[in-house]
Amino acid sequence: MTRNRWAAPLMLLGLACGGGEGNQTPVTPGAPRVSAKELRGLEVTLARNDLRVGQATGPALAYGRYDDGTTGVVEAAWTSSDPSVVEVAEDGTLTGVAVGRATVSASFEEFGDSLDLEVLAPNPRHDRDQPDDLSGPQIHVVYALPGDAEDGNLDRYGDVERSFDAIQHWLEGETGQRLRLDTAGGRLDVTFLRLSFTAPEGEERGDALLQDLEGAIRGSFGGLPDRAYAVYYAGRSGDLCGTASAEGRIAVAFVHPEGCSPRAVGADRETASTYEAVMVHQLLHVFGAVPECASDRLETSAHVGTSAGDLMYAGPEWSGHDEVVIDAGRDDYFGHGRPDCSDTAANGFWEPAGAAEPRPPGAGAPRPAIPSEDWPVRCGLLPRPAETDEPDTPEEPAAKPS
Ligand SMILES: [Zn+2]
Repeated sequence: MTRNRWAAPLMLLGLACGGGEGNQTPVTPGAPRVSAKELRGLEVTLARNDLRVGQATGPALAYGRYDDGTTGVVEAAWTSSDPSVVEVAEDGTLTGVAVGRATVSASFEEFGDSLDLEVLAPNPRHDRDQPDDLSGPQIHVVYALPGDAEDGNLDRYGDVERSFDAIQHWLEGETGQRLRLDTAGGRLDVTFLRLSFTAPEGEERGDALLQDLEGAIRGSFGGLPDRAYAVYYAGRSGDLCGTASAEGRIAVAFVHPEGCSPRAVGADRETASTYEAVMVHQLLHVFGAVPECASDRLETSAHVGTSAGDLMYAGPEWSGHDEVVIDAGRDDYFGHGRPDCSDTAANGFWEPAGAAEPRPPGAGAPRPAIPSEDWPVRCGLLPRPAETDEPDTPEEPAAKPS
């Protein structure tokens, strides 16, 4: 402290003696010419502040806030108030150890910040349909894992549940309706399905992967007539994000960081993202979107071709919309009410949103937040350019002329 008080006058004296340069910024000999920005505070961020026993999440990041208005990640030192509840690694990765609460703190230089975390028990895993709360048409949710795939526990850690919370929140705001989901004891009934084929086998099957999934689901659930299935498949099919079978009433999202998107399923309970939009896109196919009677329908597939921000859009025009809309004009596939044309809003898989105020289409609805590279949906029902060049060979029993 005392040293500093002396340093300033000495430095000024030095400048005065040197002369010649006029009165520019004083320069301390030996110090860098460009004044380093000064740290003013620290802020810790993490996507959510709950995790499950056994779950590793994060890393939490510590952002330094500087006097020039910028921020940047700093290498903070991490500690947990109770490592028997939450463990924190050197890089900020958090692991739930036991049910409870703990505070995780970061410190860097003289600054610090902390996060309060809650560790919850994992959801029980079910490999069967649980006794239903509802009767009648409903959507049953499945977490399907190829035989060799690493178990991401999307059912046990609540990701699938959060994903459908975000979907319902979005749909309620956007349409005034919500999906009728299969619940058991008031909670989303997510069935875990370990498949008999491996991820590479699934990928090799190409379009036939959908039939394999359909077979596995019918085999496990019997396939009730008033049931539709929403499947998060933990594997890829090229870079596709999803596909659907209207006859089989199956909507599939291909959840894979190198296939569809590195975004997490159900990252945010309130705001839908890539996989939520993919799931709704595929469910709308199951419900009959986009019908041939829709004026904006593409000739080549069951998508719309004119409105680039539409959830069912497929086409080359798209250039970075961040707003995804469900049939904004209510004239193509959702809520048009035309008796001569199939309407995806008119079936038993929907129920009124209840207390939530239905909004006019497009007005202030909580829309999904989707990175532009994930949009529009890379859908398995689109014709594939590489394959359409080859001559059409519909399944013919005749042997190939070898
Ligand atoms: Zn599609």
